[in-house]
Amino acid sequence: MAEIFDGDLEYKLATRAVHAGQTPDEMSGAIMPPVYQTSTYVQQGIGRHKGFEYARTRNPTRDTLERNIAALEGCRYGHAFSSGMAATDAMLKLFAQGDHIICGQNVYGGTHRLMSQIFERLGLNFTFLDTRDLEAVASAITPATKLIHVETPTNPMMHLTDIAGAVELARSHNVLVSVDNTFATPCLQRPFEFGADIVMHSTTKYLNGHSDVIGGILLTNNKDLSERFSFIQNSAGAIPGPWDAWLTLRGTKTLSLRMKQHDESGRLIAKWLSEHPLVKQTYYPGLPSHEQHELACRQMKGFGGMISIELGDTRRAHTLAQSTKLFSLAESLGGVESLISHPATMTHAAVPKQMRESMGLTDSLVRLSVGIEDPEDLIEDLDRAFKLAK
Ligand SMILES: *Cc1c(COP(=O)(O)O)cnc(C)c1O
Repeated sequence: MAEIFDGDLEYKLATRAVHAGQTPDEMSGAIMPPVYQTSTYVQQGIGRHKGFEYARTRNPTRDTLERNIAALEGCRYGHAFSSGMAATDAMLKLFAQGDHIICGQNVYGGTHRLMSQIFERLGLNFTFLDTRDLEAVASAITPATKLIHVETPTNPMMHLTDIAGAVELARSHNVLVSVDNTFATPCLQRPFEFGADIVMHSTTKYLNGHSDVIGGILLTNNKDLSERFSFIQNSAGAIPGPWDAWLTLRGTKTLSLRMKQHDESGRLIAKWLSEHPLVKQTYYPGLPSHEQHELACRQMKGFGGMISIELGDTRRAHTLAQSTKLFSLAESLGGVESLISHPATMTHAAVPKQMRESMGLTDSLVRLSVGIEDPEDLIEDLDRAFKLAK
C-alpha cells in the first residue's frame, strides 16, 4: 500500500500533480523519482529491511505513482495495476460467491465482459441497469448487494450518474460505491467529495495522457479496503513494472494543464458540432441540450474532451470517421493527440446490436477524443471530412 505523505493534500490540484507523493532521491538528490528496475532488495539482517522485500509486493517507483494519484483524487491510499481491467479485476476480488453487484449498463465494454463472462461464472451476481435512474438502482438492491459500480460520464453515450445520490442510497443499505473516473479525471470530477468508497482509473487514458502505457489504479480513503487491495495486489500480482509507473508519473505532472486544453477545445468543438447541419445530435455534458446538463454543472468542474455525435446515416458516419487527418481512426482516448472512432464496429462491437441501440449507440454514432492540438486546426479537419461525407 502506498499512503500519501502528510501535507500532500495541502496544495491545489496543479501543484499536487507536480509534487505530491515525491521527495528528491535520498542518495543523489535526483529531482525525478528513479526507476527502481529491480526484482528484490538486499536486507540488512534477518527480519531487518527498509520496507521493501520483493518487487511484486512493493516498488518505490510504483509507490510514488500511487501516492501521486491518490493525492490528485484527494484520498489517502493508491494501488496501481498493470491495466485498468486488472484494477477492476482486483476490486471484484473483494467479493465472494453469492454477493450481488449493481453496475451501470453503459460501462466500458471490458468491464461488462469481465463481470458477465468471468466473475458471474465464479459465483458473483450482477444486475446491469441504467444508473441515471436512481429509483431503478434502489429497487435492484437486495440483502446480498455489496457494491454499486458506476461510470460517469459513460462511453460513448455520455450518460451521467448522480454520485452523491448513489452514495446516499448505498449508505442506507451498507453497500459500497465505486466510480470509474477515467473519462473525467480528478481535474473535472472528484468522487470522494461525494462520498464514493473506491475510485478506479484506466491510467492508460488521461492520467498518463501520451498513449504509450497501459495501466490502472484503485484509490480509497478506507484503510481496511486499502489493506485488502494490497493483499490482492501481492497475491494475484497484476502490478505495473517500474518503467510504466515512471512514465505514468511523468504524465500526471501535466494532467492539470492538459485537461484545461481538452476541456476548452472540447467545449468549442462540441458547440461547433451541435450547430452543424449534418449532425443530428451532439452528446456532450457541457452543452445545455444535454439532458443531464444541470447535474453535470453540479458534479463536474469541467466537461473534458470526449464528444459523441449522431449522424443518422451509417455511410456518412463511416466516411467521416475515415476522412479526418488530425483525428486518427483508433480506439482508446485521453491522449494528447485527437482520435476518432466508430463505437458500433470498434470499442462496442461485442455488445449485442439490440442492447447497443437501446442505449442510443447506433451504427451512425461517431466518437471523438479531442486532443490538445490547436482547436481551429481540429475544426478545419472536421469541416473538410464533413464535406467529403455529405
Ligand atoms: C480503457 C478503459 C478501461 C479499461 O482500461 P485498460 O487500461 O484498457 O485495461 C476501463 N474503463 C474505462 C472508462 C476505459 O476507458
